[in-house]
Amino acid sequence: MATAPLIDNPQHALKQLQQQVMFLNRMVAISRLLNSTVDFNHLLQLIMDTATEILEAEASSILLVDEHTGDLFFVASSGTPQEELSQIKVPMEGSIAGTIVKSGEPLIVGDVSQDSRHYAGVDDSLGSFHTQSILGVPLNLRTHCIGVLEVLNKCNGEPFNQGDVEILLSLASQAAVAIENARLIRSLRDANRRLAELDSLKSNFISIVSHELRTPLMVVLGYAGFLREHSAPSATGEIDMVLKGARQLQSIIDQITNLEYLEHGLGDQERVCFKLQDLIDEVSEQWRPLADGKRQTLRKNFPARPITVCVDRSQIGLALSNLLNNAVTFTPEEGQLEVSIRPHTGMVAVSVVDTGIGIAKEKLERIFDRFYQVEDHLTRHHEGLGVGLSVAKEIVELHGGRIWAESVVGRGSRFTFMLPIRWDDAVADVKREDVR
Ligand code: ADP
Repeated sequence: MATAPLIDNPQHALKQLQQQVMFLNRMVAISRLLNSTVDFNHLLQLIMDTATEILEAEASSILLVDEHTGDLFFVASSGTPQEELSQIKVPMEGSIAGTIVKSGEPLIVGDVSQDSRHYAGVDDSLGSFHTQSILGVPLNLRTHCIGVLEVLNKCNGEPFNQGDVEILLSLASQAAVAIENARLIRSLRDANRRLAELDSLKSNFISIVSHELRTPLMVVLGYAGFLREHSAPSATGEIDMVLKGARQLQSIIDQITNLEYLEHGLGDQERVCFKLQDLIDEVSEQWRPLADGKRQTLRKNFPARPITVCVDRSQIGLALSNLLNNAVTFTPEEGQLEVSIRPHTGMVAVSVVDTGIGIAKEKLERIFDRFYQVEDHLTRHHEGLGVGLSVAKEIVELHGGRIWAESVVGRGSRFTFMLPIRWDDAVADVKREDVR
């Protein structure tokens, strides 16, 4: 029959058991906190308090290696004033903490007064605190040691023992993970902040590109177009090259603006009242040089009376430009292009019609999706990012309108957008341009 083991000192055994239960409870609390908090100071404080309490020590502290100087500095403590400790640097060479970091092994020093490695600078700075004994364990990460967890002066005057080492090592592994997590989160935040700064720089740059470059480019396009009409036939070839280059630049600016809108949304609209014919003239004249280069005919079909719309001029201009870009691109040489305006009650319809390659019925639904292109990306002949129509759709819908396409393969396509003439007319701060 099995007999129960004899317990010499039941009270001592009970106390030990109680301590173990308390330690396990604290470890559970620390693990939970480690997985759920980003308040790492609070977590380190709990680890420190647990170390002093369970190991019945007067104080505990965490020292980390300063990557730049190689010294050690205090990041958390219990039983000693943290503010004063944070000013103190402990040298790596010749100190107890430095020895632990370099060896990566725990160290018990029963009487620091007998150990030349004890760095008295800490006691000198704290004044009232005197170190007698130290137990220190390394804060080991997978590849290297980042610092030391120390407990000082066992309250009952006994030296620290192997059982204390095991307990402190368990706490040290949690502390090391907490410190590493804090470092990772900090570097992630720094990287995010830097990214946000770069993103804002990029957005500023794009807005400079689209606003500041457009105006001089319009002048180049305008004058080159004028020269082409009035110069001798012998110079037409050269002027066409200028026009084509300028128009390609314009197309790049449009694509950059499209992408910026896709990434950051359309933002606030600047409503202006203006004559729709003027905007359509302006945008179609920008595309005329490329159409001319392909010997395409570009016609305009406008009603005689002026149609005033109150919308965001540059956004509607971009939507129209995206449609014209496609019409020129997907229509072969000598094809026909037409931009027309048809007024309806309270609305106006703008159509861009071409005699190009057309779009199959089953694909018509998808062409307004972001990045959708009818041609396979491996075999396609046309450049483009597949964003122009999706941006045009967003712009038109944001103005309370709608956009659609009709097409017959091999015959051509008609893209139409319908806009309320006075979009959001209730808003009083609409600017008014000179309406001729
Ligand atoms: P992309 O930059 O490719 O032109 P879009 O969003 O403007 O992107 O157009 C999406 C796709 O719809 C195009 O790649 C093309 O396959 C098709 N598409 C658009 N407009 C026309 C058109 N007028 N004629 C034929 N296909 C067109």
